[in-house]
Amino acid sequence: MIFQMLRDWASLERSQWWSREALHNIQERKLSKIVRHGYQNVPFYRRLYDSVHVNPTDVIGYGGLGRLPFVTRQHLRDTSLQDMTAANADLTKCSPDTTSGSTGTPVTLLEDPSFAAKQEMAHLRAYWANGVRPGHKICTVWAMRASQSPLAGKLGLYSVIEGKFHRRVWGTDDIHDHMKFYSVWKPDVLIASPSYYRALLWFSEQNRAKLSFKVAVSSGELLDDTTRKRICDAFQSEVIDTYGLMEVGIVSWECPQHRGYHVNAESVLVEFIKDGAPAASGEAGKVYVTSLDRRITPIIRYFTGDVATPTDDECPCGRGLSLMKNVQGRIVDFILGEEDRYMSPWVVIRALRSIQGVENFKLTQKSDSSIDVQFRTRGLEAESVLNVLHQRCTELFGDMSLDIKLVDQIEGERGPKFRPVASDLTH
Ligand SMILES: [Zn+2]
Repeated sequence: MIFQMLRDWASLERSQWWSREALHNIQERKLSKIVRHGYQNVPFYRRLYDSVHVNPTDVIGYGGLGRLPFVTRQHLRDTSLQDMTAANADLTKCSPDTTSGSTGTPVTLLEDPSFAAKQEMAHLRAYWANGVRPGHKICTVWAMRASQSPLAGKLGLYSVIEGKFHRRVWGTDDIHDHMKFYSVWKPDVLIASPSYYRALLWFSEQNRAKLSFKVAVSSGELLDDTTRKRICDAFQSEVIDTYGLMEVGIVSWECPQHRGYHVNAESVLVEFIKDGAPAASGEAGKVYVTSLDRRITPIIRYFTGDVATPTDDECPCGRGLSLMKNVQGRIVDFILGEEDRYMSPWVVIRALRSIQGVENFKLTQKSDSSIDVQFRTRGLEAESVLNVLHQRCTELFGDMSLDIKLVDQIEGERGPKFRPVASDLTH
């Protein structure tokens, strides 16, 4: 596998400098393949395309793409994992991958070693472009403690290299322990979400801890300008933002010249749709993605829920990878718990999302530190859902003041800037 990974990486290092046309050709070829594979082997796509009388063997390249129906998160939630899985897949090598559930019930897909390896190499290319080199110590902050280590961490020799220079910490652990670890191990590169960086800024200021990272990589949530500047100033870091989602992996990454985000064109096809038609260069559109590499549980024309702007601009860095800008994605805040404890928004999301009958919620920490929850229900009686929600919130927030309300609609829940967990105190 290590040789495959090195080959993948060498190939990505080369192709990023190719012309737009050459990259376009790669995409068209891979697109036709994945669409045919989906139709022939995955029950969900077979049914979906049959229902609109489209035979994907006739859909070739971009020209035919518009004939394929879009896929939403609701589709994935309503479909069993078995129906999303390719019939010819070798399941013994796969492991499940679940979304955070920031925008609804989490979705589970399967990850295979080849996809995991390609994703690792795509990340490596983005980091390399931004100055990360062998010997740099890298620390990744994971939102939740994983039940098993990620597939990429098990890939032969790569795992040895990774083990020496790469550490993981968990967002569920005490952030004071993280700070101690950073001051001892001294990572050169920190990879974390903006809400985690805001927490780290908050607690390092409170504790007068001096932390610095050569490169601060932001991922998983929208990085706003204020957070970016604060990370840059407080940690003396070069800040690099990445945009991606579990369903397709890394979609784009910030160019070192900061002219936008280079699309990972070899593995993801991104469409920007405005009023049902492709958005023009410079025009904001809803972001739809197709993974060109995910074969076990293919993702084709999938609505991300985000908005971004494509641009035809050439990048002064010389890369042929197209650019996108102004990504408007999810924003969440950390919650300041009792006794000044850091609480990851992803822990809160997972705890509330797992309550049966909660259709959606918005949790806000007010500036007096009290907690306000609005929620909508589905199916079950509101009273019993409210009781469970109250109990879960008490487990999370202890004696902090709580106000939980059942509502018909949650303000802003359909917009790209919806914040399921927000804090007036820490944002
Ligand atoms: Zn560039």
